[in-house]
Amino acid sequence: MTSTAVSSTSTSTPDEYARECRAWLDANLPPRTDATDEPNYAIFHDRTHDEERALIDAARAWQARRVDAGFGAITWTPEWGGPGLSASHERVYVTMEREYQTPDRHENVLVTVDLVAPTLHVLGTPEQQQRFVRSFLRTDELCCQLFSEPGAGSDLAGLRTKAVRTGDTWRVNGQKVWSSGAQFSEWGLLIARSDTSVPKHKGMTAFMVPMDAPGVDVRPIRQMSGGSTFNEVFLNDVEIPDEMRIGAEGDGWKVALTVLGFERSSSAGIVSAGGNSADLVRLARALGITDDPLVRQRLGDAAIYERASALLVARNAEREQAGAVPGVEGSIGKLVWTQNLKRVGDAAASFLGTRILADTGEPGTFAWTEHLLGAPGYRIAGGSDEIQRNIIGERGLGLPREPR
Ligand SMILES: Cc1cc2nc3c(=O)[nH]c(=O)nc-3n(C[C@H](O)[C@H](O)[C@H](O)COP(=O)(O)OP(=O)(O)OC[C@H]3O[C@@H](n4cnc5c(N)ncnc54)[C@H](O)[C@@H]3O)c2cc1C
Repeated sequence: MTSTAVSSTSTSTPDEYARECRAWLDANLPPRTDATDEPNYAIFHDRTHDEERALIDAARAWQARRVDAGFGAITWTPEWGGPGLSASHERVYVTMEREYQTPDRHENVLVTVDLVAPTLHVLGTPEQQQRFVRSFLRTDELCCQLFSEPGAGSDLAGLRTKAVRTGDTWRVNGQKVWSSGAQFSEWGLLIARSDTSVPKHKGMTAFMVPMDAPGVDVRPIRQMSGGSTFNEVFLNDVEIPDEMRIGAEGDGWKVALTVLGFERSSSAGIVSAGGNSADLVRLARALGITDDPLVRQRLGDAAIYERASALLVARNAEREQAGAVPGVEGSIGKLVWTQNLKRVGDAAASFLGTRILADTGEPGTFAWTEHLLGAPGYRIAGGSDEIQRNIIGERGLGLPREPR
């Protein structure tokens, strides 16, 4: 396999750019075909620690290779290692890449590339940007999100992990939970309470924490999908230099909202994760049920909402590239996407009947069981469906705010 650097400019026509993408992908990846494709609709993996590590390493290597060739950070400018092309160019590449066999995606890589790198680009100091942005875009280092706590998920501003400043050092004590990929990350983006004397949204501060710092204790949690991508993270007298503070003291809520905004728009972009409408059509064909009008209706619904989700992602990407901060569009996109994840899973379950319940060894069936076990996760992560509806209602439609 070889690499060639991208030569497109922002004035390349879509056809010219597509030719360039095709040439690079042909030279670097085998094509995806029904015959070679082992169905894998798992949303969360059922793997041991070492297997998970190998998967992450492969995903990192692929991301670095894409960035170096100009296809991994397409809308980023050369200063950050990208070619500075438009969201439309990115769409051309991402759509085309789905025709090839890529290494499995991993949420740890997505958090680092799609959430933390753009947040530091927007809110980091010049030194922090130089230190982290390119490294995170290439996944030379990984970063996890240390936000949720046992008593603070949807109500993130209720978090209790405490950061106390003495001179130029902060001392942090508390517990985080559901921290995806914390056991594989070099860094964590932490939100902690730094002032208890002000309203809760104003008393939080954000930090970059080295995950190997003394006092950081990471404990994996077993999930119903089998694997352990989540963790509890305990912070006992962890010392963080003030230069690792992101934003001003008290700006933690702003940092959190920025990350969550990027999370909503990026998670809605993973339309291919965990089995999509084309996979559902493949299943219906294999079962010989495509003549059934009710089956056809379900296949049509899944395809329509998938398309709607992709268009919302595209609109959001154009807005962000035009300099707008992530807005309510991300919530709409995420909701449409997670609803469709459920729609696709429910359809597969109804097509398969009782075969969805156990791994019978029949090709292509347990893959859908794994989809069903993982889909609820994305309806909670990054703000649950109910929270997205609240945001759309309050900020998008101007409905009265719910009682606080
Ligand atoms: C796959 C996955 C990955 C995750 N990764 C991370 C990570 O890397 N880092 C991290 O910090 N966190 C992570 N989380 C945690 C995630 O952010 C929280 O689970 C989420 O914010 C919900 O919080 P909670 O679990 O405490 O549920 P709760 O907030 O207790 O909610 C329980 C239920 O009540 C509903 N609810 C709560 N408040 C309202 C309201 N105001 N109106 C209507 N309904 C409401 C919710 O929708 C939900 O159904 C992850 C979660 C998942 C599932």
